[in-house]
Amino acid sequence: GEALSKKFKELKGMGEKKKVVIVGGGLSGLACAKYLVDAGHEPIVLEGRDVLGGKVSAWKDKDGDWIETGLHIFFGAYPNMMNLFAELDIEDRLQWKVHKMIFAMQELPGEFTTFDFVKGIPAPLNFGLAILLNQKMLTLGEKLQTAPPLIPMLIEGQDFIDEQDELSVLDFMRKYGMPDRINEEVFISMAKALDFIDPDKLSMTVVLTAMNRFLNETDGLQMAFLDGNQPDRLCAPMVDHIKAGGGDVKLKQRVKEFVLNDDGSVKCLKMVSGEEIVADEYVSAVPVDIMKRMMPKQWGTMPFFHQIQELEGIPVINIHLWFDRKLKNVDHLCFSRSPLLSVYADMSTTCKEYYDEEKSMLELVFAPCSPLAGGKTNWIAKSNEEIVEATMKELERLFPLEIGPKSPDGVGAKLLKHAVVKTPRSVYAAIPGRNKYRPSQATPISNFTLAGDWTSQKFLGSMEGAVLAGKLAAEVVTDKAVYGAPTKGLKKIVPDVIAEARKLQE
Ligand code: FAD
Repeated sequence: GEALSKKFKELKGMGEKKKVVIVGGGLSGLACAKYLVDAGHEPIVLEGRDVLGGKVSAWKDKDGDWIETGLHIFFGAYPNMMNLFAELDIEDRLQWKVHKMIFAMQELPGEFTTFDFVKGIPAPLNFGLAILLNQKMLTLGEKLQTAPPLIPMLIEGQDFIDEQDELSVLDFMRKYGMPDRINEEVFISMAKALDFIDPDKLSMTVVLTAMNRFLNETDGLQMAFLDGNQPDRLCAPMVDHIKAGGGDVKLKQRVKEFVLNDDGSVKCLKMVSGEEIVADEYVSAVPVDIMKRMMPKQWGTMPFFHQIQELEGIPVINIHLWFDRKLKNVDHLCFSRSPLLSVYADMSTTCKEYYDEEKSMLELVFAPCSPLAGGKTNWIAKSNEEIVEATMKELERLFPLEIGPKSPDGVGAKLLKHAVVKTPRSVYAAIPGRNKYRPSQATPISNFTLAGDWTSQKFLGSMEGAVLAGKLAAEVVTDKAVYGAPTKGLKKIVPDVIAEARKLQE
């Protein structure tokens, strides 16, 4: 993280100053603009909506309560994100929680069990110890069966991890004789938290990547909540930095298409408004599904762009439930381990801006929400009322003493209101075999660069991945200005894609 940040400052003033138009004001587009300003360029971010942040966007409802696109957790093992917070001087906005993971117990409703990270024990031993110390989730035998298949990851590192991409989590477990209960106890909640999908759908590379990042750093798995809504508390300081450095960020600027020159390079951007925007360099920081839609015909048959057809976003639903009282809760993220839900948190306790001493506001991630993600029901197509009803049923089962008819007063906590935010296409579906299709930020088009959490970088579709991808895209543009070409070059494209693209060209 730090080395690349330094590079931008060192290259400032070298080469030609570029006017760079960035399509998309999510974290990736904003991070790209932030680092382009640091390198002395003039970025202009065009965001289609009237709010910044994309998947971290949020807005107020009529009562003044914030509605978020997603419950978001920051990890210690997010080096580029942590670096960004430090550079913007907003580190105090991260509310770090006690270093542990909290799981709801399915067999003991209302009870939790934890992985506790002991202070002073370095990674990866602290993780091993945290699992060993937990007596409730796995037997000693099961724990011992889990460790050996994971050892190559620690020794061989990234190569071993990348090789497992063709296997789902379940395939990997079967191949290495891991007990099924590990899946039920740990991997289901992990898969749903990492990619909103079930472990029979998720690539093992994703689980190993996460474990590897977390295992290599002592505080890697420590979690933080932002102290308030993301547009104000994280996006706004990025915008201030961009504007102070001579760049700009504009809302309600929806790009319709890339207009090309004869040689395939970008001539200008055509806006939905009909306006045309010309720049020296163009960066796309939109989600993969939108990039597929906006793809100029001429690019679509090039192997580099054709590979993107293999990627697609996964649906996810974020739910807010406001209750009439304070629920028994923990000041942390909880893994629900329930079939319908993934992680959740009581934001009235975990987040400063949403703090309320008397009433709870649960924010919950509903996953999997479609057959693509491993679910049986296509929840993403259901009404908000049906989704909330199903969520309340799950909560009654998980917390019978507080919610629903089994609670002492026969009614339980009353739901005052709810808000449901559906994202039909969120992070790319990390199903087996996808990693090889994630394109580099550098493209074969002379004045066009890709950003977005789905492009190739060693983090998954995440806030850290989005920031890193934006930073790498800024590096491509800066390298071109100074050296005439990107220093990292294009990522290799798999032969099958090249052959298919050839057929399309004929
Ligand atoms: P986006 O945020 O999707 O930004 C793309 C932007 O492009 C959007 O603002 C969009 O409006 C804009 N755009 C699209 N088309 C156009 C157009 N034609 N013209 C102009 N603008 C356009 N990550 C974590 O690290 N931790 C978490 O706990 C976590 N939880 C999550 C929970 C949920 C429910 C969701 C949905 C996501 C979660 N994520 C989490 C993932 C994280 O939010 C994303 O990986 C990240 O924010 C993606 O950033 P991005 O900039 O790549 O894309």
